[in-house]
Amino acid sequence: MEQTDYQYAQARLAQLKTDYQVEVLADWGHATTDPNEWQPGSWTRAELDRLQDAICLMANIMGGNERFIRNLGGVTVRKSDIGSHAGEALSHRVSFSTKGSFSSWTVAHEFAHAWDANHGWRLSRRLERYTGGFTSRTLALLKRLARLSDSGPFGPEKQPGRQGRRRGCNRAGYFYGDRPSGSNWSFNRLEDFAESVAMYAGWERGNELSQHAHNRIIRYQLKNGDKDPFHVVDNWMDYAECFYPENGDYTKTRRWQFVDDLINGRMEVN
Ligand SMILES: [Zn+2]
Repeated sequence: MEQTDYQYAQARLAQLKTDYQVEVLADWGHATTDPNEWQPGSWTRAELDRLQDAICLMANIMGGNERFIRNLGGVTVRKSDIGSHAGEALSHRVSFSTKGSFSSWTVAHEFAHAWDANHGWRLSRRLERYTGGFTSRTLALLKRLARLSDSGPFGPEKQPGRQGRRRGCNRAGYFYGDRPSGSNWSFNRLEDFAESVAMYAGWERGNELSQHAHNRIIRYQLKNGDKDPFHVVDNWMDYAECFYPENGDYTKTRRWQFVDDLINGRMEVN
């Protein structure tokens, strides 16, 4: 954060707190030892804008600021050294990596985790059930040993068709139901929920998540060996049966319906 943006940043922080009960831990400011010395910290003005815009978008999808606050129950946002991840979330807490920046998609994804966490991670369990999925590490292991998995026996391999994208072919033994927008070795019910919320918030709405959501789906129309919009080479055509929704319409998926039911109060959540 540049010193010239100090007032601007303070105003943003105050607004985030008032409107959404989101508290950003500022790592910028005047040095306590020398008030003339400016410490820029790791945040940029553009990131603060991106954070606020993505939160505003999610609140609108949820039906307003009060609903957002009720769903999330207040969140503290910080930047910290969290290794290779872009973001991380627990209940009432979202962290972004100090290495590199974060996207609007990452904000939506991490806040979805915080929403799930604020309900004892029961929302993702509901999603798993609703979509007809289940989790079994034993069955996943047997599947790998029987060479029925699209991964190696011990994990994903760095080649097309071996990343562990099929049902149960992931570390968690998560056999997702219906059609998520994608899956990899790290996929589990928590990631499924976070991605489903971000997909729902972006799908064909013309907002800052929409291009990303669109790219998630159109890649299954590519040929095997093609590079997708995220620069990943894989056998996309083979994976269409796992991920490509009916007529390419993501609103036809069970997980779109789940999020729609959830935010429109057609599902009881305690
Ligand atoms: Zn996640």
